[in-house]
Amino acid sequence: MHKDIATPIRTKAILEKYGFSFKKSLGQNFLIDTNILRNIVEHAELSENSAAIEIGPGIGALTEQLAKRCKKVVAFEIDQRLLPILADTLEPYPNTHIIHQDVLKADVAKVIEEELAGISDIMVVANLPYYVTTPIILKLLEENLPIRGIVVMLQKEVADRISAKPGTKDYGSLSIAIQYYTAAETVMIVPKTVFMPQPNVDSAVIRLTKRESPLVPVISEDFLFTVTRASFAQRRKTILNNLTSQLPGGKEKKEQILQALSLAEIEPGRRGESLSIPEFARLSDALYPYFH
Ligand code: SAM
Repeated sequence: MHKDIATPIRTKAILEKYGFSFKKSLGQNFLIDTNILRNIVEHAELSENSAAIEIGPGIGALTEQLAKRCKKVVAFEIDQRLLPILADTLEPYPNTHIIHQDVLKADVAKVIEEELAGISDIMVVANLPYYVTTPIILKLLEENLPIRGIVVMLQKEVADRISAKPGTKDYGSLSIAIQYYTAAETVMIVPKTVFMPQPNVDSAVIRLTKRESPLVPVISEDFLFTVTRASFAQRRKTILNNLTSQLPGGKEKKEQILQALSLAEIEPGRRGESLSIPEFARLSDALYPYFH
């Protein structure tokens, strides 16, 4: 058995050995609590036949726990300074593979094809860099990758918005973009004390389980998200006012927008936050012909 990486003593020793200094701009807050890591991995429900894709392995704290539980771990790390450290800390785990790349620029589908061929159960598991949590999650979902789901640590405030239900203050275009593709739940609230250095915000772990097909079919997913973003542009405005002021050419198309709202059976005086995803889907399809 190897000593876990995620303890304050071992982490400090590794950082000192390599003279590593944290880069705040890369969202480097490393986990130093093995129990929290095991819990995250538990929520991913992996088996020895599963694979995990990690984003930002840092010094390998989570990578190690994943490697113990599944067949293969592929991890994207942007910071070149971490590569020699990872080669050292992950040396006992030959089923890990580090890719030195910005995940936002990576061809993840190709990596899955090349690195995880023959593995049918793939989960994304990560302690995300907080400056890019939403672009990363949206990229992974919009690229329609062959993954079962995503279990990630992120800012609690973002977790609240992702899993929010209609009619709540946190419900918005992000909740819709993510719940359209997945069932979203917050599975853990995590104290700041388990990170080195400690972040300024509270953290949470969310589990996103991909739906077999998106919640409701629409003519265009892009246009659905354009409509939802427009509807929440000013939360206190009515849906009619937001759509006329935000959709391209909306001011000249007020009559058509009213017709689409009527066809979708949505009162023009309602606010975006009261609409369910199926209602947004109906509205988007009713508006589509007037904007294409
Ligand atoms: N997994 C480690 C842990 O839990 O201790 C480190 C997590 S730390 C919050 C985020 C990691 O993501 C850092 O190692 C950072 O260098 C890396 N990172 C930041 N931006 C990235 C990007 N665009 N692509 C890949 N990795 C990134």
